[in-house]
Amino acid sequence: MSASALPRVLILGAGFAGHTAALHLSHLVKGKAAVTVVAPGNRFTWFPSLIWVGTGTMSEEAVQFELAPVYEKLGFEYVNARAQTIAPDDRWVEVQAADGQQRRIAYDYLINATGPYLNFEGTPGLGPAAGHTQSVCSVDHAVAARAAYIESVARMRKGQRQRLVIGVGHPAATCEGAAFEYLMNVDADLRNRGLRDQADLIWLSNEPEPGDFGVDGVEARKHGAVVTGAALVRGLFDESHVRTLMAAGVTNVESGRLTYDQIGVDPATLDFDFAMLIPQFRGVPLKYIDKQGADITGAMTLPSGFMRVDADYASKTYDEYRAADWPATYRSPLYSNVYAVGIAFAPPHPLSKGKKSNAGTAIVATAPRTGMASGIMGRTAAYNVADQIGGREPTHHARMSEMPAACIASMGQSLWNGSAASIVMVPVARDFERYPTYGRDLNLCDLDVGLAGAWTKRLLHETFMWKLQAKPGWRMIPE
Ligand SMILES: Cc1cc2nc3c(=O)[nH]c(=O)nc-3n(C[C@H](O)[C@H](O)[C@H](O)COP(=O)(O)OP(=O)(O)OC[C@H]3O[C@@H](n4cnc5c(N)ncnc54)[C@H](O)[C@@H]3O)c2cc1C
Repeated sequence: MSASALPRVLILGAGFAGHTAALHLSHLVKGKAAVTVVAPGNRFTWFPSLIWVGTGTMSEEAVQFELAPVYEKLGFEYVNARAQTIAPDDRWVEVQAADGQQRRIAYDYLINATGPYLNFEGTPGLGPAAGHTQSVCSVDHAVAARAAYIESVARMRKGQRQRLVIGVGHPAATCEGAAFEYLMNVDADLRNRGLRDQADLIWLSNEPEPGDFGVDGVEARKHGAVVTGAALVRGLFDESHVRTLMAAGVTNVESGRLTYDQIGVDPATLDFDFAMLIPQFRGVPLKYIDKQGADITGAMTLPSGFMRVDADYASKTYDEYRAADWPATYRSPLYSNVYAVGIAFAPPHPLSKGKKSNAGTAIVATAPRTGMASGIMGRTAAYNVADQIGGREPTHHARMSEMPAACIASMGQSLWNGSAASIVMVPVARDFERYPTYGRDLNLCDLDVGLAGAWTKRLLHETFMWKLQAKPGWRMIPE
C-alpha cells in the first residue's frame, strides 16, 4: 500500500501520554499506518526532575531532549505546532506553528494527549508571568523558580529570615505530589547550605490532610499493622518543622501576600517572601466543530475543558462514586476514532473528599493523572487504535480503578544523604466492590522512606530518558 493510502493516526501532544502512544504505535502499526505527532516546543520534558531544576540541583538541559530526531527514527512525521480546532466529522485538525502559519492535518484516528492548560488566571495574582508566585510546571517556570529561590537564599545568608510558602494555588488544584517534592527538596537544600534555621517553611494545600495527594491517601500493610501515608507525611513535616495549612485554597495573591479560604474557618491572609504554588489544571483550549462549522466543544468536553471519554459523568455524591465510573478505553462516546489520554481526558470525579468553606468555596484536590498513569493510558490508546486499524473493536482497557501507581517522592536528590518516599497503590481509584475494607489491595500497596528511594528516583530519570528517546531495548522498560 502506498504511504498516502495508509490509515492516518494523528497524536496531539508529545508528553507522557502522547509520546508513549507514539512509541507503541511504532511497533504496533509499523508499515500499516502513517503517524503524525503535533506538539509545540520541539522538546520532551521529563517533569519529575523539574523539582531539582527549581532548587538548582539539576540543569534544565538534563530534563529535556529534542523530539524531531526521535520521530525521524520511528518514521513518523513531527509537526512543531499547536492544535487549535478539531473537526471530528470531517476528520481534520487545524494547527498553528510558532510563526503563525496555519494548516489542516487530516486523520483517520486521533489521540488527544495535550496535557494541562496551566490556569494561572483562575487565581488572581498567581504565577510567574503576570503574578507574584513561582511554579515548577514547565522548564521556564522551574528556571524562574530557581532564580527566585536563590535570591531568597541570598537574603537568608544576610541574616534575613524568610517565609517560603509551597503547595497549590487554587482550591481545586491537583499535582500536590510535585509540590510536596519541591517543599522537601527545598528543606534538604537549605539544610545542606546550613540555612534551614533561617527559613519558615509552610505547606499550603487543598488536601483534607497531609499525605492525601489527591488520591484519598494511601495505606499499606507492614509487619502485621496498617500504616498510613497521612501518618508518614505528618511525621516528616514534624521532623522538618514544616507548618501546614490544610484544606486551604488560595483565592488571591498580591506582592508578598496571599489570601486563602480554609474549611471550617474564615478567609485569611498570609505574608510570604517566596511562594511556589501549583495552579489549577484545565483542559488545553481546543475548539471542536461539526460538519456545518457549529461549535460542539460543549458536547465534546466538560466545562473544565477536559475531553469526555467512556466514563460515567452522571452527577453523584462522594459516597456514590464507583470504580466502574472510570474510563476503560479512553474513547470519545461521540466519535469512535477519537481518544483522549493523560491529563487531557475528563476524570468523572475527584478521588479525594472535598468540602465547602464557610465562604462557600469548594476546596477539593482534583484527581491526579500522574506520569505513570498517563503513560499507561497512552499505551492503551495506541493498542486500541491498532485494534481498529486491524478491523477489530478496541480490546484494551486501563481504568484508574484497575491500574497500579508507583510514586517516588524525592526529599533530597543526593545519592549520599538524599531521601525519598516510595508509594505504591493498587489500584489508584479505590474499588470498594473488589476490596471492601480499604478499596485497595493492601498486600500490594507500599509506603517507605529512605535513601534507596533517592537512588530509585535518579534511576527512573536515567532509564526513562533512555526509553523515551527510543534507544535500544526501550520496549523492555515498562510505563
Ligand atoms: C514538577 C512536576 C513533577 C512531577 N513529578 C511526577 C512524578 O514524580 N511522577 C509522576 O508519575 N508524575 C509526575 N508529574 C506529573 C506528570 O508530569 C504528568 O502526569 C504528565 O506529564 C501528564 O502527561 P500528559 O501527556 O497528559 O501531559 P504532558 O506531559 O504535559 O504533555 C502534554 C503535551 O501536549 C503538548 N500540547 C499542549 N498544548 C497543545 C496543543 N494545543 N496542541 C498540541 N500539543 C499540545 C505539550 O507541549 C506536551 O507535549 C509531575 C508534574 C510536575 C509538574
